[in-house]
Amino acid sequence: MSARILIVDDNPASVKMLEAKLSREYYDVISADKGRDALKAVAEDAPDVILLDVMMPGMDGFDVCRQIKKNPKTTHIPVIMITALGGRDDRAAGLQAGADDFLTKPVDDTTLFARVRSLVRLKRMLEQWRLREETSEKLGFQPDGVDIIDSGTDGHIVLVDDSTVQKANISEALSADNDRVSIVEDYQASGQIADLDGDVVVISLTTDVDVAMRLASRLRSIEQTRQVPILMIGEAEDLGHFIKALELGVNDYLLRPIDDQELIARVRTQVRRKRYQDRLQANFLQHLSMALTDGLTGLHNRRYFSTHLESVMNRLRQGGDQPVSLLMIDIDHFKAVNDTYGHAAGDKVLHEVALRILRNIRGFDLAARYGGEEFVVVMPDTPIEVALAVADRLCGKMASEPVALSDSMDKITVTLSIGVAISHKGVKTSEDLLKEADAAMYEAKRQGRNQVVPKPAADAWVTSEVLPG
Ligand code: GH3
Ligand code: MG
Ligand code: MG
Repeated sequence: MSARILIVDDNPASVKMLEAKLSREYYDVISADKGRDALKAVAEDAPDVILLDVMMPGMDGFDVCRQIKKNPKTTHIPVIMITALGGRDDRAAGLQAGADDFLTKPVDDTTLFARVRSLVRLKRMLEQWRLREETSEKLGFQPDGVDIIDSGTDGHIVLVDDSTVQKANISEALSADNDRVSIVEDYQASGQIADLDGDVVVISLTTDVDVAMRLASRLRSIEQTRQVPILMIGEAEDLGHFIKALELGVNDYLLRPIDDQELIARVRTQVRRKRYQDRLQANFLQHLSMALTDGLTGLHNRRYFSTHLESVMNRLRQGGDQPVSLLMIDIDHFKAVNDTYGHAAGDKVLHEVALRILRNIRGFDLAARYGGEEFVVVMPDTPIEVALAVADRLCGKMASEPVALSDSMDKITVTLSIGVAISHKGVKTSEDLLKEADAAMYEAKRQGRNQVVPKPAADAWVTSEVLPG
């Protein structure tokens, strides 16, 4: 799918020229000649990158940029401001308004294409995270409420530079903007840079350009730094390297002599971008874990358990030679707890049972809340004797140590009925195993509750029917 570029400029000749250049590179180009129309196009045509002229009658480029960045639906769309040559203040103001980059008129083709390509890539990546955010919303989670407009200050900047004077100047400018700066002098210390876990890595090109380029490429390939924004600093004659660097995934570059304002603004843009991305990622992971966790007990929920048991059984079918055991645990006469002490007391008991289950199993066993007052434990690589011993201990402890109810002196004795099943020749799928454990649990109920029943029964364990292989 070709990327869609929106050109916003009040000068028809400028629009025509950019349109021609970008169309030739197979971009899908749309245009607007006024701020209002631009915002309309942003809302309706979903551009991937916006090229925005600063000087326009009525609503100028800064206003348009601020509007786009203020809107949670459009904040992730990269904006490139187009400024007049030497428009230093414009550049700084544009970046402050939230622009992701700027180009000066007349626009140089190579730089234009490199910047656009790099920003399209960024947009696609953010889009993936936003898709997950939408999924989270469908699962019933609130959309991210964190303020979108982040100042981008107070970042942790890792500066890679081996020139004494230069690194002092850069570090001083950034510190003046409240950034914390860590300096690394060794261009081969990618591990050290990864460990510093900064918000942005600034790589300053010195005599050996290749070693700096290799570092950028290395940072992109290490898991820990794959997402960290990289800003390069160099001379005008390094342009060829910068173009290559953008292809490698470097996010931005800056030319010497360094304009402190521009440095600060570009760094802020990258810090902002990093935080936005981190936030989407953190929300996703949190929602994911909530979608798979039972809110009352903190155990995995049934959805997670089913998927997990499925994979455990799959592995077994693919030639695992160790059996899988499954416990099906049901609280006895739990309805009576609710009826006598109230629903809150019932909840407390469920929570306590979950805790005791967790305390009695091993790290690689998986406990989940299967339903109302039913729990399951998957025990991979576990022979039935071991599973039975765990179940017996849990059952005994439950019966002998009453549960204290909060806000009262009451302690109630809660007992469990546990069915234990094990994989064997006749039990190949997770449904089979669950059915066996469930039948065993009902047998425990039938025999008077507060006990453990294995299936198959103990006297059948020695037959080859039961033993795997
Ligand atoms: P049995 O020994 O045969 O298992 O009897 P029981 O009372 O434990 O079983 P039954 O299935 O009749 O009742 C289960 C009760 O669990 C009914 C339901 O209200 C209660 N329950 C289910 N989920 C929750 C919950 O999240 N909190 C509370 N407090 N109670 C719950
Ligand atoms: Mg019950
Ligand atoms: Mg039940």
